[in-house]
Amino acid sequence: MIIVMKRRASKKEINSISSKIESTGFTAHIIHGEERTVIGAIGTGDKERIKMLVNHDGVDRVYPISKPYKLAARSSKEEDTLIHVDDIQIGGGTFVVFAGPCAVESREQLFTAADGVKEGGAHFVRGGAFKPRTSPYSFQGMGEDGLKLLQEVKQRTGLPVITELMSIDTVDMVSKYTDIIQIGARNMQNFSLLKQLGRTKCPIFLKRGLCATLEELLMSAEYIMSEGNYNVMLCERGIRTYEKSYRNTLDLNAIPTLKKLTHLPIIVDPAHGTGRVDLVPPMAKAAIAAGADGIMVEVHPKPEEAFSDGQQSLTIPQFKQMMEELKPFIAAAGKKLIVL
Ligand code: PEP
Ligand code: MN
Repeated sequence: MIIVMKRRASKKEINSISSKIESTGFTAHIIHGEERTVIGAIGTGDKERIKMLVNHDGVDRVYPISKPYKLAARSSKEEDTLIHVDDIQIGGGTFVVFAGPCAVESREQLFTAADGVKEGGAHFVRGGAFKPRTSPYSFQGMGEDGLKLLQEVKQRTGLPVITELMSIDTVDMVSKYTDIIQIGARNMQNFSLLKQLGRTKCPIFLKRGLCATLEELLMSAEYIMSEGNYNVMLCERGIRTYEKSYRNTLDLNAIPTLKKLTHLPIIVDPAHGTGRVDLVPPMAKAAIAAGADGIMVEVHPKPEEAFSDGQQSLTIPQFKQMMEELKPFIAAAGKKLIVL
């Protein structure tokens, strides 16, 4: 059930409704929007008593949510969720770019890529220190040494960083070094990990699983949100299909569909979504046209020497050129490209 508070509801009224919700057996989730606060009554409890809350001070409406995901549903919160990382707003009309190498390989490689993406106008530096590789014999990432380099990159460039978290044992370690935690496609349904992240305050970048439906993706977001962390953004990164001309099929339908189903920001990754560098700029443009709030791309100083995903990594000049080409698309989509 969702309890929508009046625009000018006081803190006292919000707190009083929350404790009434808790007394019915439900858990109260207070979600502060820019315009108004909504409170989710999540779990199981006495629905009839929740319906009666409509008569209390500060309450505007009370209604059930029919979707299996509740806190992530657009029907529970009309306004877009805005996630603030340093001075950057993700969602709600801005357009943001996450760029950097697939994996942190060395200080020189990471610093060169980071300086290049900053010059090109990226807002976040990406780089994996723990890599989910298909083969155990492939490069697995630099681990904590890689995280330390990401922290240095933040000091050097001033840009916040994002890196993948693969295991529940490293939640504390990874959160110490990163501004945003990336949950990769392969871990999208690692429910115990998602719950653990729900107990942190760190923004989560949740990638769609290789074979996951949109509802499954939203249920994974719900796992994080139901533990109290509402700072979740979703990433469409391509799904497995029978087509072999590219690594994955970027599901552009997902963008406007998710926009209807959820208030969470939607980011598109045309690098993993295609696996081909020549397809990255056109699919980035298509993602913008379809309504994405941002893109994530891979950039490497020398893609031919990359330890992973070189075939889908842009060079620094290619990244800069793409960023110039994207500008009119971002403007036409009615989004504001943040300039740092
Ligand atoms: C990545 O971002 O490098 C990555 C491994 O992505 P995904 O989880 O989408 O495959
Ligand atoms: Mn990669």
